[in-house]
Amino acid sequence: MQSDIYNRKLKFVVLGSGTSTGVPTISCKCPTCLSNDPRDKRLRTSLLVQSPNTTVVIDASPDFRQQMLQHNVDKLDAIVFTHGHFDHIGGLDDIRAFNYTTKMPMKIFLDKKTFERIKKTFFYIFEEPERSGGGLPLLDVNFIDIEPFTIGDIKFDPLKLHHGTLEVLGFRIENLAYCTDTNNIPDETLRLLCDLEILLLDALRYEKHSSHFTIEEAISVAQRIKAKRTYLIHLAHQVKHSECSKLLPEGVYLSYDGLTLEL
Ligand SMILES: [Zn+2]
Ligand SMILES: [Zn+2]
Ligand SMILES: [Zn+2]
Repeated sequence: MQSDIYNRKLKFVVLGSGTSTGVPTISCKCPTCLSNDPRDKRLRTSLLVQSPNTTVVIDASPDFRQQMLQHNVDKLDAIVFTHGHFDHIGGLDDIRAFNYTTKMPMKIFLDKKTFERIKKTFFYIFEEPERSGGGLPLLDVNFIDIEPFTIGDIKFDPLKLHHGTLEVLGFRIENLAYCTDTNNIPDETLRLLCDLEILLLDALRYEKHSSHFTIEEAISVAQRIKAKRTYLIHLAHQVKHSECSKLLPEGVYLSYDGLTLEL
C-alpha cells in the first residue's frame, strides 16, 4: 500500500541465509557441507533493504565485507540491528570502508541492549584511540524501541520477538516482515503481521533448539501468519536445500544467499 504512496519499488536481498557458523561449517563432512549446490553455501544472516534512493542493511554479520562486495553495495545509508549476538554484529569493524569514502559516521539503529553488547564486543571503538590517524569505525548511534522509524524513504516497524530468554527485534517494512532469531512470536507481534506479502522467518534445523524455530515450528507459524510467501532463514547445515525444499508446503520456501525479492 505504502509503495503506492511513495510510488517506488522496494528491493530486498538475502545477503546471508545461514546460522552463526555459516554453511559449510568448518571441518564438517556432512552432505550439505560437501554439497556443490550454491544454495547450500550460506553466509551469516543479513538482509539488504533498498529503495531507489536509500540502502539499508539489517545486521552486520561477520561476512559483512564479503556481502557488500558481492552485491556491489558502494553506498550504505544505515545499519539496523536485530540483537547483539556475534553473528549479527561481527562485521561492524568493516564499516570503516564506508567511513573512509563518505567521511561521515555510519548511522546505526539499535536498542539499548544491543548497544551495550556492541560496546563490550567492540570495546576499542569507545576507548581513547591508541594512535592518531584513526582506524576505528565511526558510528552515529540512533536508539530504537518499538516505535516506527524511518531511514530515507523506508519506514521500519519494529517487532518484538522472543529468542530463547532474550527479547530481540524483527522488522516489518511495508508488506514484508523479517523475523530472524526467534523461537516464539508473542501475540502482540502476531497481530502486526497481518496481510503480509512476504515473511522471512527463522528456521534453524529439524531438531528442537532452545532459541530458534525448527523447520516444523516455522511451517506452523507461517501457516498461522499466512503471508503470501514465507522464506525460511538462519539455516544450519542439517538443512540440505534440495531435500528440505521437497518437505515444505505451498507458499513456504527455503531462502538462499542472493535471493532477491521485490515489493
Ligand atoms: Zn555439515
Ligand atoms: Zn541470536
Ligand atoms: Zn543469529
